[in-house]
Amino acid sequence: MTMKRPITVALDGYSSTGKSTMARQLAKVTGYRYVDSGAMYRAVTLYAMRNGMIAADDTLDIPALVAALPMISIDFEVNGDRQSTLLNGENVEREIRTLEVSAHVSPVAAVPQVRHALVAMQQAMGRDGGIVMDGRDIGTTVFPHAELKVFVTASAETRARRRFDELKAKGEDINYDDVLANVVSRDHIDETRAESPLRKADDAVLLDNSELTVDEQNKILLDLFNSRINGD
Ligand code: C5P
Repeated sequence: MTMKRPITVALDGYSSTGKSTMARQLAKVTGYRYVDSGAMYRAVTLYAMRNGMIAADDTLDIPALVAALPMISIDFEVNGDRQSTLLNGENVEREIRTLEVSAHVSPVAAVPQVRHALVAMQQAMGRDGGIVMDGRDIGTTVFPHAELKVFVTASAETRARRRFDELKAKGEDINYDDVLANVVSRDHIDETRAESPLRKADDAVLLDNSELTVDEQNKILLDLFNSRINGD
């Protein structure tokens, strides 16, 4: 068997589509590195919240955040099947998944300087290929030459239900309507921002997983991967 050249896989789409579940599984079966780019935007958001850059009325102090960017380092720590996000060396994996961080992340992710800093880090991580990255702008901006691009979507209600079940299972005290409102509002900000908005790349495969099981969507992704690796 000849060794295939490692490729780059870009998975983009709306929030809570289960992109990261698919991406993680593909990375596992292929031995590729998985990078959750959303976790990086969430970590920057947590930094802004902790450092008083988000006022009680939710306004973001953009100049203060931009000035602090050189002081923010983000890494991933892999332990077995799980991956944790480190913010300046501290494991913040749990904290960045809360609804509070979700509520503040999209305005932070709309700041051009934040995007430039994180996109540069993401491109460095993917320099040699052999990577599966999920996010909003991976196929359009981070890796416009990725060999495989998939754009994942599902109805807002399906996505809110999935996120609600996930947060409930973690013991968060939340209600479904708040989760749905957050999903819809993040989609809107992500789609309408000036800097690399959420958009399907022209050469991305569209995958609506509203009616698919996790196993079904994993199989579709693996089949696409295998056809790309074989140069189809
Ligand atoms: O994927 P996740 O829902 O964790 O992403 C959180 C937020 O980070 C998104 O709603 C979006 O505002 C931002 N994001 C982004 N670009 C990416 C990944 C995430 O703007 N590549």
